[in-house]
Amino acid sequence: MVILILNSGSSSVKYQLWDTKSTGMLAKGLVSRIGIDNPKLEHRAGDKKYDYCPDGKIDHNDAVKLALDALVDSEHGIIENIEQIDAVGHRVVHGGEKFAESALITDDVIDAVKECIPLAPLHNPPNLMGIEACQKLMPNIPQVAVFDTAFHQTMEPYAFIYALPYDLYKTQKIRRYGFHGTSHYYVAHRAAEFLGKPIEKLKIITAHLGNGASMTAVKNGKSVDTSMGFTPLEGLVMGTRTGDMDPAIVMFVMEHMNMTPADANNFFNKKSGILGISGKSNDIRDVIEASESGDMQAKLALDVYTYRIRKYIGAYAAAMGGLDTLVFTAGAGENSPFIRRKIIRNLEFLGIKIDEQKNESAIGITMDISTDDASVRTLVVPTNEELVIANETEQIVSEI
Ligand code: ADP
Repeated sequence: MVILILNSGSSSVKYQLWDTKSTGMLAKGLVSRIGIDNPKLEHRAGDKKYDYCPDGKIDHNDAVKLALDALVDSEHGIIENIEQIDAVGHRVVHGGEKFAESALITDDVIDAVKECIPLAPLHNPPNLMGIEACQKLMPNIPQVAVFDTAFHQTMEPYAFIYALPYDLYKTQKIRRYGFHGTSHYYVAHRAAEFLGKPIEKLKIITAHLGNGASMTAVKNGKSVDTSMGFTPLEGLVMGTRTGDMDPAIVMFVMEHMNMTPADANNFFNKKSGILGISGKSNDIRDVIEASESGDMQAKLALDVYTYRIRKYIGAYAAAMGGLDTLVFTAGAGENSPFIRRKIIRNLEFLGIKIDEQKNESAIGITMDISTDDASVRTLVVPTNEELVIANETEQIVSEI
């Protein structure tokens, strides 16, 4: 089945074309600077490269059209016409409590995604724009929504309810939802497959350490707790997000630094985290470099970042009553032996021990980096959210 995978954000649309029967990914691209000046298409199909800068401003409909035109172009395209696309799979950030699974897009599904806009005001509207553009440009092709929140819908109320008046859950839908679900789902399943063990019998902690970062406790194949919460702000220290902190800081900062709720939202989401502590960069690579040249704030940022992850490993081992497998994924998780080494320091008591040589050589590949005698298998597993979206889309569309 030929599937177009779309990740439609506020100012960019990322796409991949997959053939699930044979080669996997056929082409991929990015349309950036939507709604502002100098938009750009970057398209790649095998070794064919095509960059194009359209005149004037473009909207999401134009962006999807640019992607489709590139895919069918006689020179740098990969298919002959749009009809060769069997289905479209969309990444949708928030499915609220309505979606514990992916869904075929219907008017009812669109209404339900719209209902979740207050929960994800920055993400769901552009996701919907991508869906609407595809409905317009490919009206006869079935579309599927794959939700970032769906995998975490298995959490028990004691893990997802905040200690607020219960009414807020009922009336405002305030609870822990969790995000990055597609990635946690994928790496947990891939880890079980790699170890040759049934996921139903494993206690796994997955650490997705990209610019946004989250951890999940996956017990017997189900998400039982996750570090992101009502929004992606909670949990780990991230590139520019605070993660966990005393909520009283919000009121204090608003009062003493004269911030509106919008200012505070921006401050805690965009100016904090690794960038905030280091005062240098949100990119861990830059901060490692600065730390190695003696920058104390950079060193502190890495200490706070890795200590928070270590605490969550302990917490989730307790939440699951044990631990079989620890999985590192995404940017730093897949590519940084230094960060992994720093995180697992002093966790021998849990059975986590890594072989330094294996750790050093596990860069962007699936690998067991534990020592032979460790009782917990520590794995590096590159994430592949697109593969999950392609599989889910294929499965749902083939059942129509
Ligand atoms: P995103 O979260 O934007 O989807 P990634 O999962 O690719 O992106 O993560 C990007 C982040 O991963 C970078 O900002 C950087 O902090 C971190 N990263 C990537 N490669 C390395 C590396 N070799 N060493 C340390 N950190 C890295």
